[in-house]
Amino acid sequence: MHTYHNPLDLVRERSPERPVALVRPDAVSVAARWFQAEFKGDVFYAVKANPSPWVIRELADAGVRSFDVASLNEVELVGEHAPGSRMAFMHPVKSRVAISAAYFDHGVRTFSFDTHEELAKILDATGQAKDLNLIVRMGVQAEGAAYSLSGKFGVESHNAPALLLAARRSTQDLMGVSFHVGSQCMRPTAYQAAMAQASRALVRAGVLADVVDVGGGFPSIYPGMVPPDMSEYLAAIDRGFADMMVHETTELWCEPGRALVAEASSLLVKVELKKGDALYLNDGSYGSLFDAAHMKWPFPVKLFRKNGEVVEEGLKPFRFYGPTCDSVDHMPGPFYLPESVDEGDYIEIGMLGAYGVAMSTRFNGFGETDIAQVSDAPMASMYGLAKRSIATPRPEAEERKIVRFSRPKGAAGKKRRRR
Ligand SMILES: *Cc1c(COP(=O)(O)O)cnc(C)c1O
Repeated sequence: MHTYHNPLDLVRERSPERPVALVRPDAVSVAARWFQAEFKGDVFYAVKANPSPWVIRELADAGVRSFDVASLNEVELVGEHAPGSRMAFMHPVKSRVAISAAYFDHGVRTFSFDTHEELAKILDATGQAKDLNLIVRMGVQAEGAAYSLSGKFGVESHNAPALLLAARRSTQDLMGVSFHVGSQCMRPTAYQAAMAQASRALVRAGVLADVVDVGGGFPSIYPGMVPPDMSEYLAAIDRGFADMMVHETTELWCEPGRALVAEASSLLVKVELKKGDALYLNDGSYGSLFDAAHMKWPFPVKLFRKNGEVVEEGLKPFRFYGPTCDSVDHMPGPFYLPESVDEGDYIEIGMLGAYGVAMSTRFNGFGETDIAQVSDAPMASMYGLAKRSIATPRPEAEERKIVRFSRPKGAAGKKRRRR
């Protein structure tokens, strides 16, 4: 992978025709070391946030030896780039073929589930193995998260005790409980509340967990979404764990995805056309900008003029369109850029290391992305690599962004309220 001092050098030297994922491996390493030093338990990287081989290798080099995987492809990916790692298959719905291959061919021993049917399937597909770590995924309230992850998965509280008991009886190894408070969780206390909910289910089941897995959800920094310090999340988890009925050797696990990789990649795109306040780019919602389109996240941006000139004054709000012919390929922003931005210029879109390149498709013949390493700092950082905030140029813009943060509730929200 070619390394440039910064994106401007890359623009000057290469004038890239395709979008370029700008990667900053140090940012992965710093985040991984921080989590391992501060979290009082085992850190599993949730591979889906960014499955790039360089990420897996960088994490392994930084000492991460545990991975949360959700498909056989992810199992194989980790096996190839971080051989010898421990993997936890945390998708609550798996195919029998995937379970068998993970168990027999890749040494995976940890599986999660949220139904009796899936537990039976896991036992069956592993030949009634006795050395399984069985993790019950619980549904929890996702207050303060940008994305709810409890609508689709997680056993409801009143059904949890029976499933915990069944899990306890099905293994001589570890039995545990897991949940996901929702991605980009803005409230540290959400973890404590979820742990209390898990604890009540365990008490009702009359079993002690060997593993308490607090899942992912740890936030990164985006304009209008500057979370509390990461140490507050870990402190809330410490309090939650202290309040749980557990035994002396109960293990604490977490599964951060976003928090380990968000800072570590940005995207360099080219402006193909300017039409008023609309900039037509060579990447969009079918490429690495899914969240910018579908969640309307206003990612931070920087302009690099084609002639190498650096302009920062005269900021004006722009919206982006991606290269496909689909009209959902629209990123409303607002993205604040110098008014003089024009065709042929380049824009760096920051904080796209999580759920960016990972979401890219080849729809309409686009989506091919080059990759280059840069050694400058990310646009913002939870770990001291850069500022802990991202400037939001106008107050009214900040307000709009904060409003957008509360995601429209879908079926998940309704289901929770009914209970
Ligand atoms: C997606 C996912 C994660 C990672 O979530 P982040 O919000 O990126 O930290 C962790 N665990 C499970 C089970 C997931 O599905």
